[in-house]
Amino acid sequence: MDKSYVSHLECSISGKQYEANKVHGLSEAGRPLLVKYDLQKLKKEVSRDDISNSKVDGLWRYFPLLPVPDPRNRITLGEAITPLIKLHRSVNYNNKDKGCVLVKDEGRLPTGSFKARGLCMAVSMAKQFKLDHLAIPTNGNAGAAMAAYATHAGIKSTVFCPDDTPDINVREIQSLGAETYLVNGLINDCGKIVGEGKDKVGWFDVSTLKEPYRIEGKKTMGLELAEQLNWELPDVIFYPTGGGTGLIGMWKAFLELKELGWIKGKLPRMVAVQADGCAPIVKAWKNGEEHAPLWENAYTKAAGIRVPVAVGDFLIIRAVRESNGFAISVSDEDIMEARDRVAAVDGCFLCPEGAATMIAFEKALSFNLVTSDDKVILFNCATGLKYPLPEVINTIDKNKTINYDMFL
Ligand SMILES: *Cc1c(COP(=O)(O)O)cnc(C)c1O
Repeated sequence: MDKSYVSHLECSISGKQYEANKVHGLSEAGRPLLVKYDLQKLKKEVSRDDISNSKVDGLWRYFPLLPVPDPRNRITLGEAITPLIKLHRSVNYNNKDKGCVLVKDEGRLPTGSFKARGLCMAVSMAKQFKLDHLAIPTNGNAGAAMAAYATHAGIKSTVFCPDDTPDINVREIQSLGAETYLVNGLINDCGKIVGEGKDKVGWFDVSTLKEPYRIEGKKTMGLELAEQLNWELPDVIFYPTGGGTGLIGMWKAFLELKELGWIKGKLPRMVAVQADGCAPIVKAWKNGEEHAPLWENAYTKAAGIRVPVAVGDFLIIRAVRESNGFAISVSDEDIMEARDRVAAVDGCFLCPEGAATMIAFEKALSFNLVTSDDKVILFNCATGLKYPLPEVINTIDKNKTINYDMFL
């Protein structure tokens, strides 16, 4: 029963090894720790078909490739296998056999965003380690996911949000049982408060990449894609990149699957999508740099990707480079236009961050960075319903004669 294939943790920059069965934050070098598995042993004991035939729903079906050894600590709020939706109206070549554009709709997960994957895993490990207080800085979705899983597990949670975080997110977090604070700053300012409180309050810091397990949760996006596509990965993945956990996690998943021999052929090209008003990774990638300095005066309506500085910057850039992908930024104006268009034309409700991947795809197509023969995945990372939407202006006066011709 109590079984995990985790062999150890490893510093992502120095390669130094750390013991698996201990609580860890960042490495001594101040960089993310990556979870390593005994893949040779796993390969002998578990097959791809065992996964495909699993009766377990949602992300826990991949438990051999996940860290939580004791099933009693695997918290669940009913994570869905998120669907792939073909954009067959907004993209005009989608009737071809090979080339197509599919949206992976992560808005179906608990708390309406893919942050559920990472926090499901991090909070499950917190439960495994018997941690009793978790804290997190958030632009909204991570805080809601942490609050939900921590509360479900009976663990206390404290959340810090920039004071311009959309009201709906802040209220959601508080409603889900977290002690919730608005901070007059950006997410990195909130992160500083969490970091400084570690010794003073004794809470555990669950910030993006500052503990090892959120990546493992986000990795399930890659595992799920592989299984959904019959273990043949797509050609290109467009990912709205903030802290980059998802992009790093998926790339890690693909390398592990490749080592297991569960997938064949080329790995997908990974595309980091950011907003023009906050594009540190795009800038560093274009300049051929490995690290991305803090982006001053970060602004975008796509709050999930308003991350001015990322501890895992070099891991994002490395995955983009190793996969022969690229980094690209898009304007807020285009993002909102794409969101409204895809909803109205294809019936698929993207959040602004998801819409950013649509615009990035269209731009990339026009620059010949992708072609109509490519199978492309766009990540819609949250439900479109949490964001302000265009107003309805049509009205009917029930006391007047209705001219039904206008509905024709
Ligand atoms: C967190 C978030 C992102 C960015 O994801 P990372 O994996 O942290 O880069 C994008 N969109 C939404 C809606 C988010 O909540």
